Amino acid sequence: MGIKTAKFGGSSVADAIQIEKTKKIIDADPERRYIVVSAPGKRFNGDNKITDMLYLCKAHIDHNAPYDQVFQVIYDRFTATAHTLGVQADLEGCFDEIQENLKNSPSEDYIASRGEYLNARIIAAYLGYDFVDAAGLVLFDKKGKFLHDETDAALKAELAKHEKAVLPGFYGTYPDGRIKTFSRGGSDITGAIVASAVRADVYENWTDVSGFLMADPRIVKNPQAISAISYMELRELSYMGASVLHENAIYPARQANIPINIRNTNKPEDPGTVITAGEDAWDESGPIIKGIAGSKDFSVIAVYKNMMSTEVGFIRRLLGVLEDYSVPVEHIPSGVDTVSIVLSKSNLGDKLSDILEDFERKAQPDSIEVFEDMALIATVGRGMASRPGVSATLFAALFEAGVNIRMIDQGSSEMNIIIGVENKDFEAAIRAIYTAFVEQTPSVGACAPLG
Ligand code: ASP
Repeated sequence: MGIKTAKFGGSSVADAIQIEKTKKIIDADPERRYIVVSAPGKRFNGDNKITDMLYLCKAHIDHNAPYDQVFQVIYDRFTATAHTLGVQADLEGCFDEIQENLKNSPSEDYIASRGEYLNARIIAAYLGYDFVDAAGLVLFDKKGKFLHDETDAALKAELAKHEKAVLPGFYGTYPDGRIKTFSRGGSDITGAIVASAVRADVYENWTDVSGFLMADPRIVKNPQAISAISYMELRELSYMGASVLHENAIYPARQANIPINIRNTNKPEDPGTVITAGEDAWDESGPIIKGIAGSKDFSVIAVYKNMMSTEVGFIRRLLGVLEDYSVPVEHIPSGVDTVSIVLSKSNLGDKLSDILEDFERKAQPDSIEVFEDMALIATVGRGMASRPGVSATLFAALFEAGVNIRMIDQGSSEMNIIIGVENKDFEAAIRAIYTAFVEQTPSVGACAPLG
């Protein structure tokens, strides 16, 4: 029998009704043996996530404000869920312990982690699975760096003792036993490392959408679903703003060569999206591109210097300045005498004028121009590399839509063309690209006349 690791996100385990759906899914396949859960998420629009309420508790503690009311809301939600499901799970004991710890200025990570901890206990009791705490198994060094190999060994040894288990996502421990969380949405990472430790055949990530769509449905009407995609293609898309899966969840699964299947708890009959290493994600009959993703609010600093290409160290000096200001670089398209540096506005903050002064001083360019309010759009698909006419289709579509392209960058993997447009053209550009590749040129076969 194979092994499946299934991770259920916040909305899939938000209350008793959702947890019942989760149980049905798990019971339907005996291979679903290792389950990772998030804290309860939103039950409806405007509802609160338990994790946010826990952070709020911590904020009250830090400001010496009473936190009993917030804590009561959390307590009530968990006890109502346990009551409806008819499980005990020693919640009273857990809450007493947490309340005791809250009196001794606990860390933010400890408080935030309790949502996953309590939910995993309830769900383990309801499923009749063992509860296995992530503390002491998901390991970080004392600086907070995740220890992949040590975690893999610890989880492997522990889970070998459990036929079926539920683990809380999102956190682990420092060497001294204190709780350390991943960044927000980090239960996805726990799911991937558990899947890797038990050498699962598949890592199922159950959420509230049926996998990835080819474009943002708020921009493109009814975009097609992506049935299969490679880790690398997804990385290009998630980097640009697709947010179904935590980006750090990809690495552990990829390293262990475990496919990730994104599934919808509310529509378990949908096959979702499968993310795999490569060849098998290449669907000959599908569209040439896998997806389109982007984000707004970038700044482009275009630097010009005569004979730049013969000057040793010019680009290094520019990048050195950005390093001094701790500003990460998104892209660096370059020409013979020009280089454009694309930075996200949120990373840039108020450092722009200081950076420009240092550019002048350290690199002595002939001119510098700054373009603000730019958006980046990535059109991604491994099939693009081998198809003539892909860029022609892209640029013609944008021309027809009246979108002015301000920057072009093609990744060396050739699975990705990134264009820079003004923020105001962002949506129109995405719609134009989608129409050109998916609606007008639906398959590789149909692409032939493009060449
Ligand atoms: N509960 C945590 C969060 O809201 C982690 C997770 O759900 O993955 O970010």
